[in-house]
Amino acid sequence: MYQGQCHCGNVRLTIARLTETATRCNCSLCHRYGALWGYLTESEVEIQVGESGTEYYSHGDQCIHFHRCKRCGCVTHYSLAPASGSDRLAVNYSMFSAQDIVPVRIRLFDGADTWQFIDE
Ligand SMILES: [Zn+2]
Repeated sequence: MYQGQCHCGNVRLTIARLTETATRCNCSLCHRYGALWGYLTESEVEIQVGESGTEYYSHGDQCIHFHRCKRCGCVTHYSLAPASGSDRLAVNYSMFSAQDIVPVRIRLFDGADTWQFIDE
């Protein structure tokens, strides 16, 4: 099992496997967050939230909910709005230890423009 957490420990993520790749996206939001996304599904991620709680931000078509710890502000994961019908849950690998994510290959996604991977 791999465990990640926000800086203050209020939000904890537990996953059984690492994805082969992680996505570094340059869209207007991910670029600012500096997030490193691993795409899993809701059933694959255990999310424990302490008393400080979480809140989320979404923009544009409101499809994606970017969740952050209300105490320390770390963006821990994103989920898709219920209306999307998708069970994708993306964890931010930056919440995990650097050592744990060494095997994960980082891919660059051009979310700002072409919506293609631009690293090969
Ligand atoms: Zn926190």
